[in-house]
Amino acid sequence: MEVQPAVITEKLSEKELCPEQLLGGQEAAFARDIERLKARRAEFVAVRCPGCDSPSASPTLVKFTFQYVTCNDCQTLYMSPRPSEAVMADYYRDSENYRYWAKHIFPSSETSRREKIHRPWLERVIGFCDRFGISKGVLMEVGPGFGTFSALATESGRFSRVVAVECTPELADACRARGVEVVEKRIEEVGEEVPGADVVVSFECLEHLFAPRAFLESCARRLRAGALLVLSCPNGQGFDVAVLGAESLAIDAQHVNLFNPSSLSRLVEACGFEVLEVSTPGRLDAEFVHDAIREGRFEVSENPFLKRVLVDEWERLGWPFQQFLAENGLSSHMWMAARRRGGG
Ligand SMILES: [Zn+2]
Repeated sequence: MEVQPAVITEKLSEKELCPEQLLGGQEAAFARDIERLKARRAEFVAVRCPGCDSPSASPTLVKFTFQYVTCNDCQTLYMSPRPSEAVMADYYRDSENYRYWAKHIFPSSETSRREKIHRPWLERVIGFCDRFGISKGVLMEVGPGFGTFSALATESGRFSRVVAVECTPELADACRARGVEVVEKRIEEVGEEVPGADVVVSFECLEHLFAPRAFLESCARRLRAGALLVLSCPNGQGFDVAVLGAESLAIDAQHVNLFNPSSLSRLVEACGFEVLEVSTPGRLDAEFVHDAIREGRFEVSENPFLKRVLVDEWERLGWPFQQFLAENGLSSHMWMAARRRGGG
């Protein structure tokens, strides 16, 4: 599967998504979450590659004392040993970071997130439907968070029905408050409430899951043949991950699976789908590295070319460089469209 060029036209800055004055509070909350997670290390379990099930992997980096390895077969970057499903469930339930986020960061940035991120996402999903001849009937979003995307999709009137599948009560409430129909279950438990979805979308979800393969197999079971699956997640081979390693924001205690275009294609195909398109429409890699240099978290003096592009001539070259990354499958933010195979 060749990676398709992603054309990114509208600039995006992290500052539009998280006001800088809130970062301190968020970091402190996150640090306490990490300490709680470390205290349960005895319950972590070693896993095979979440992409291809290979047992063969090479140690790659350590973050917050947690080990990340790279699969020797499909190059997925993943945490192993990792928190068990029970530990992960407790982590999200007790997370101070998520609570801080829900209380402060999200409310102050929802408008710009909706306009700068979710509206372009909706246009992209509609574009897939038109291009691949998918009916705009029932759209199901799995893992909708606060429901911004599902609300936009509902309001747009472009689909006959929009359903958010969300098992966390506070998030399900947030979706309902935005006028979204919710099925308050795990995707594995969804049955006749959503017969015959035409489109299933899941954004920034796969990287958090203990068992992404089981999740994709559940999605496949809920879909009729020919239905569209749209996923977005980090690309573990993207620019900021490749340059910053453990310093990359994509490497995070909550992100235990960092697929790449080829390994995610392989996994999705193995779960009953035909991959239609993979691309990396990320808009933030260059800024993440630029910020890491400015904040002294990444030493660029040995690398005059990067310094020129990302510091000295940042105003002129930063955005064109990001466009180059997106157009050539090199950004750390990845999208995939796939179609449910028939007969299964
Ligand atoms: Zn693998």
